[in-house]
Amino acid sequence: MLKFCSLYSGSTGNSLLVQSKNTNILIDAGVSCKKITDALENINVNVNDISAILVTHEHTDHIQGLGTLSKKYNIPVFATSKTWDNMKEQKEKISDNNIKYFNISEDFEIEDLIIKSFKTPHDAADSCGFSIINNNTKISIATDLGHIDNKIFDSLSGSKFIMLEANYEPEILKYSHYPFALKQRILGENGHLSNHIAGQTLAHLVDSGLESAILGHLSKENNFPKLAYESALEELSNYGVSKDFINLTVANRDKPSNFIEVS
Ligand SMILES: [Zn+2]
Ligand SMILES: [Zn+2]
Repeated sequence: MLKFCSLYSGSTGNSLLVQSKNTNILIDAGVSCKKITDALENINVNVNDISAILVTHEHTDHIQGLGTLSKKYNIPVFATSKTWDNMKEQKEKISDNNIKYFNISEDFEIEDLIIKSFKTPHDAADSCGFSIINNNTKISIATDLGHIDNKIFDSLSGSKFIMLEANYEPEILKYSHYPFALKQRILGENGHLSNHIAGQTLAHLVDSGLESAILGHLSKENNFPKLAYESALEELSNYGVSKDFINLTVANRDKPSNFIEVS
């Protein structure tokens, strides 16, 4: 059994909770320590029960509260060595015994969870997504990625639940006030994922057992929840997947989502 809750999600800050019967971990800590502990309190999880924080990459919207949270509550932090090298300010706050390393694609364990990581195409030093397995139940988290290639698709396959980025709606981005260079960055191979690619990816994953999904990391300027949801549904239906086949929701920017449970 695994449970998932998005505490915060979006270009303004990200932190996600994954829970098994005995273990709680966070993925990213991209808002203040106070906001994270407030959200945990809100969903009745004791911050002292968090066994680890996994870091996807060093962008501020993923690490803003990391150092303080680890220091204050003595929580081990797992990141790749290149990611550690690119978040020195946070690293300095974290005690040596809580600095943990992993290599992308090499599995490791945190209590009863098996952690698998996969490389994501994004403009960061060594960014990755995660699959988390408990008793053969697999869930995956993939945000901050410019495109989906076969390798990523294979990593996501077999997940019963996925949190997938739906960052922008192309038509809104096209007419937004963003400078040309920033638009190119978002649209690029190493930028972010659109609502439509997210929907198409989910449609392809249904065959491998996907039951539920939450769209996340929405842009504040170039997207909104209803549109992300409808664009993804439209793609699902384009690929012949009825909305009854998948429990699809959208993560909130500023408050916890509902718990999603898979077993
Ligand atoms: Zn990023
Ligand atoms: Zn991000």
